[in-house]
Amino acid sequence: MGNCKKVLQAYYKGLYDIEDVKLLQMKNMQRIILIAMCIVALGALAFGVYEFKGEFSQKQKTRVAQVSVQTLVPAVSPQPQVTPTPTLTPTPTPIPLPDPAVYGPCKNIPVLMYHHIQPWTEAESKGQKSLTVKNDVFSAQMDYLVKRGYTAITPKQLHDALTGMNPVKPVLLTFDDGYADFYTYAYPELVKHGFKATMFLSTGLAEGADYLKWSQISEMHGSGLITFANHTWSHKNLGKSSLEMAKFEVDTAKTQLEEHGLGPVTAFAYPYGTEGGSLIYGVLKDAGIKVAFTTIPGSYQCAKLPYDVRRTRVGNSSLSSYGL
Ligand SMILES: [Zn+2]
Repeated sequence: MGNCKKVLQAYYKGLYDIEDVKLLQMKNMQRIILIAMCIVALGALAFGVYEFKGEFSQKQKTRVAQVSVQTLVPAVSPQPQVTPTPTLTPTPTPIPLPDPAVYGPCKNIPVLMYHHIQPWTEAESKGQKSLTVKNDVFSAQMDYLVKRGYTAITPKQLHDALTGMNPVKPVLLTFDDGYADFYTYAYPELVKHGFKATMFLSTGLAEGADYLKWSQISEMHGSGLITFANHTWSHKNLGKSSLEMAKFEVDTAKTQLEEHGLGPVTAFAYPYGTEGGSLIYGVLKDAGIKVAFTTIPGSYQCAKLPYDVRRTRVGNSSLSSYGL
């Protein structure tokens, strides 16, 4: 390579300015051959460096991909229930309103809770009648909200409302568990009406039979209308879990939602509506949760009860019968 340097210097500077006796003594043909060999050698070297860089960046990419996949695989592995069976809210019994002097200020912000939206025939064949609102009834309910001037808001907007903002006629549309019929029947209605909605996803159940696919979730998230939020990894009853298990369930769901570009995740819904006490609040707080949704009926939301948001379970009646 030392010779190549001299030869190329000579090539650029003009052969006769060079003080190398050997070079000057070479015949023209020898010099041409030497220059050609040097060009080939340098070309090969440059190509080798390029290839090496390519291989390196490919290796890096692979490693990043592996890391990314690794974070999706939970360290311990309780298998998600294939079919979580959320229990119905027991017949609503009057629940005393929280005292605004202690928990306030409090505001009337209805949060509607849905599970399945589908034709009745499908609900019958799948044994899902108790958790189903018929798709045509759902469509009429959305029409009703438009007619009455409601604005569908996000969990973040609910949090803002608890801490001072005053949205006009707000309502939250929430859906639990991540069933496939949400994509087929509810989402098109939400798009048609321009309504925002929140889907509480048990992330370990995604891609399962009768559950949403991640590709559908991404598509809906991309519309800007749907907020995907934490509903644990395996639809775990946190009221019956150890603190360690609760943390694993909440954190794994958070990680998976964020890995799919759905973060930051600031809302949570308790599977089976079971709150599990103040220690669970700590787990939620550590996971960045700002508002947590219960199945406690009511629409009176208080600033000092952000992990205790009331919801209205909606059935197949007009929304006027639920106080809207
Ligand atoms: Zn659920």
